[in-house]
Amino acid sequence: MSRYAVFGNPISHSQSPAIHRQFAKQTGVTLSYDRQQIDVGKFHSAAEIFFSEGGAGLNVTVPFKLDAFEYAEELSDRAAQAGAVNTLIFNNGVIKGDNTDGEGLLRDLKHNLQWPIEQKNILLLGAGGAVRGVLGALLSASPASLIIANRTEAKAQELVLRFEQAAEKAKCKMVACGLEQLSTPFDLVINGTSASLGGELPPIATSVVVDSLCYDMMYGKDPTAFLSWAKSSAARDTADGLGMLVEQAAESFYLWCGVRPNTAPVIQFVRNSL
Ligand code: NDP
Repeated sequence: MSRYAVFGNPISHSQSPAIHRQFAKQTGVTLSYDRQQIDVGKFHSAAEIFFSEGGAGLNVTVPFKLDAFEYAEELSDRAAQAGAVNTLIFNNGVIKGDNTDGEGLLRDLKHNLQWPIEQKNILLLGAGGAVRGVLGALLSASPASLIIANRTEAKAQELVLRFEQAAEKAKCKMVACGLEQLSTPFDLVINGTSASLGGELPPIATSVVVDSLCYDMMYGKDPTAFLSWAKSSAARDTADGLGMLVEQAAESFYLWCGVRPNTAPVIQFVRNSL
């Protein structure tokens, strides 16, 4: 039986084992999938033990995506572009790092929600690991413009520089700014900050979300603080990041097992269990 796991800290909240067990059941793949809380600074040694004991693949979540990037012996183009890894694959004696967060977000936006991206004006809030992971995929969908706004503006500026070539290739106007500078509405607003984790809101004007489609990468049983605020600020529609979570897991499952699971019933399964 192939062994998989997710490494993170904290990890007790992780839905990944439930999601991958659903995928396995659905596709007839036999696997085991556990969650492991790893001490900060111990990622490398824990991954060594996991793979030397026959582990076939790992998912990696906060705060280890940069450690996984350094640990991987080979990188996919999208992981190299993001500078972060959320999936490790052991294949033919080599540990390859990939990043499925961007594909997960794109599939949720385009296929599940049917929210258009091409030629749209997009606002991406935040400049942490999650935003880094999704920028390449968002740009590949050719938005007209992409504004990265972050509390610490310098981090947003760094991302604009890092993804400059991808933006040029997509003919997308990409700029960075601080949160307080925003005023005009966008077609699509994606909250990639961790503010919702603490029930907080990024400090942006309500005018920014009027008639916008608003997405929060965070998810929960109830609407997040950002989505409740967006709804009461006249957003056109809102969605949380549960679909992204399941879609990025499906992409990892595909990389490991070569089978693409049907995500819709699994999104519903996880939604019901929250
Ligand atoms: P990081 O810690 O790497 O980055 C956090 C970001 O949030 C930074 O840009 C930080 O700004 C900003 N921030 C934090 N608190 C506030 C606040 N109160 N007001 C404004 N900005 C704030 O986290 P990640 O990028 O890894 O994760 C971000 C979110 O995305 C989390 O909610 C996480 O759960 C979610 N996520 C969801 C996934 C999914 O599959 N659905 C996948 C990955 C992440 P600054 O730079 O100034 O500190």
